[in-house]
Amino acid sequence: MPPPRRREKALRHRLAELRGPEIPAKALDARALAALAANPGCRRRAILDGAGVNKAALASALGSPSVFGQSQFAFVRGNAFEAKVKADGGTELLRLAHEKLDRAAEPPAGAQVPDLTAQGPQGRTARTELALREAAEASGTWTLLDHPMLALDVAGSPAFLEPDAVVVHPDGSWTVVEIKSFPMLDGAADPAKVGAAARQAAVYVLALEQVAARLDPAPRVRHRILLVCPKDFSNLPTASAVDVRRQRAVTARQLARLTRIEEIADALPEGTCFSPELPAERLTEAVESVPATYAPECLSACELAFHCRDSSRAAGAVTSLGRPVRAELGGLTTVEDVLAAARGESGDPDDPAVAALRRAAALRAEALATTAAPEVAPCP
Ligand code: SF4
Repeated sequence: MPPPRRREKALRHRLAELRGPEIPAKALDARALAALAANPGCRRRAILDGAGVNKAALASALGSPSVFGQSQFAFVRGNAFEAKVKADGGTELLRLAHEKLDRAAEPPAGAQVPDLTAQGPQGRTARTELALREAAEASGTWTLLDHPMLALDVAGSPAFLEPDAVVVHPDGSWTVVEIKSFPMLDGAADPAKVGAAARQAAVYVLALEQVAARLDPAPRVRHRILLVCPKDFSNLPTASAVDVRRQRAVTARQLARLTRIEEIADALPEGTCFSPELPAERLTEAVESVPATYAPECLSACELAFHCRDSSRAAGAVTSLGRPVRAELGGLTTVEDVLAAARGESGDPDDPAVAALRRAAALRAEALATTAAPEVAPCP
């Protein structure tokens, strides 16, 4: 087996080939990583994300454009709110961190805000790590890292992540900050949106834990993150501490279940390429050469959802009916298999799924027979 450095270089080369010549890798964000972790069985998504393929461009080139993306208005509003929260050296943000997470510490006057600019994602990651190390050593002060860059190993390939901010407390512990533009009304926000923010933050917590593990002594990464939102219907920031322990544990477990990118890449036919510049037929062939596990949940989490839904329906796969239905059907993977088992033409009668289908089919036939030939009372 070649040494790790050579293997890493060969993998990087192979992933660049899959992306297409001269096409820059699209960085994975925490939202994409959280979605990837939510469907760990999907090799198609894993290799496309691992290779840095722009899935939105790929979906358009396949003729099934995604409906993802934030409106320009929401984007501008989000940026303006974040700038307001971080204005004046992050005074308001640090005040909220002190109030919601660390009241026992000294108030954050004269906090450090290190410059994190560097060349490329690797350079920015190294610069962030240095700033975190320095902040951990300078105990007793507050430090705000504005848009740090963190690397997280995902299925054997590094993913670069950029949280909105990380706060270093006077005791040397670290907190992830998520700034969102959805409102917090009377101290509470839309639970679905808070859940999505918590899943993203959990990814950052995992990445920070990898950095902390390299330091001696390892600083504590807090599992309560700071969620900052506009207060009621104003543009004033307010915040809430969100416990992400559960999301962190689930994401860590799911990421560990991902098949290694190297293994998926090795199983692809020679010459496979996902460049959106290729003709649609070649792209379809390339995409279909990687197994996928489509589920209706993909519609809100993956840019390729319309393409995968069409392929899944064309193949009669039961996964397109949803994960709960799929789980009930055991080894029956296509609608055709399910119907044949229900009609008694195939399937093991001792299989609980087959037995339940036959019973359901019998009940249905009975109900239809009763409806088709109702008992008519004779005329008096
Ligand atoms: S839409 Fe397709 S590629 Fe994306 S996660 Fe679902 S099955 Fe995988």
